Amino acid sequence: MDWVDRGLCRTQPERMFAEGAAQNEAKTVCFKCPVQLDCLAYALDHREEHGVWGAMTERERRSLLRRRPGVASWAEVFRAGTTHREPELEPEPVRVSRPGRAPAIPAAEVAKLRAVSA
Ligand code: SF4
Repeated sequence: MDWVDRGLCRTQPERMFAEGAAQNEAKTVCFKCPVQLDCLAYALDHREEHGVWGAMTERERRSLLRRRPGVASWAEVFRAGTTHREPELEPEPVRVSRPGRAPAIPAAEVAKLRAVSA
C-alpha cells in the first residue's frame, strides 16, 4: 500500500471516518487526491466497512458491490483503465433521490467509474 503515503488525508485520517453530512466534506478531499482510485480499489477489494475511501462512503461502496458482484478485483478493473471494457461495468442509470437529498452515488463519481471502464 505505497499509495497511502501519498493520500491527502494522511495527516488527518480521522476526518475520513466522519458521520452523516460531514462525509460529503470528507469526499471533497478525495476528489483532489492523487491516489483516489488506488484507495477506492483497496476499500472495495478488502470490503472496508467504515469510512470514506476514494470518495465513496461505506453505504455507496456496499451499493456498488451489490450491483457488481462479478468483479473479483477492483484494482484490476481500475488498472485496466481504458484498455478494455468489462461487460459488468456497463454504466447504469444514476438513481435520482428525492429533492434536497444527495443521490446515492453522486454523478461525478459515476462519471469517474465510467471513465476508467471506457
Ligand atoms: S482518496 Fe480520500 S480517503 Fe483515500 S487516501 Fe485520498 S484523501 Fe484519503
